[in-house]
Amino acid sequence: MRTAVKSTNKAFRTLLLKKRDEILAATRREPEALSANVQSPDAVEFAVRTVEQDVTVVTANLRSGMLKEIERALKRCAGGTYGVCEACSEEISSNRLKAIPWARYCLTCEELRSRN
Ligand SMILES: [Zn+2]
Repeated sequence: MRTAVKSTNKAFRTLLLKKRDEILAATRREPEALSANVQSPDAVEFAVRTVEQDVTVVTANLRSGMLKEIERALKRCAGGTYGVCEACSEEISSNRLKAIPWARYCLTCEELRSRN
């Protein structure tokens, strides 16, 4: 028996694993960039290729931050809480998860948090 929610989570998990691999591969290519806030052509290409949304440049700092968020999201996949807002426990919309597969909060909570 497989519910729609479970197969969706599986798809996002695959996406998260792929993103993690891409970030790790990019990190291996330029290990010294991890601690520096550089905007290399490589980082721009990485951003265009992996984050089609409104992020034009993924810096090394952002990349390592993303990696942590992806790890967290993978843990939530394993724990069965993936796609649930950590603040209000509502489901995060699939459109938001498609844009940010590692999102921890629904749009409402994210906006509240960024304002505070
Ligand atoms: Zn929420």
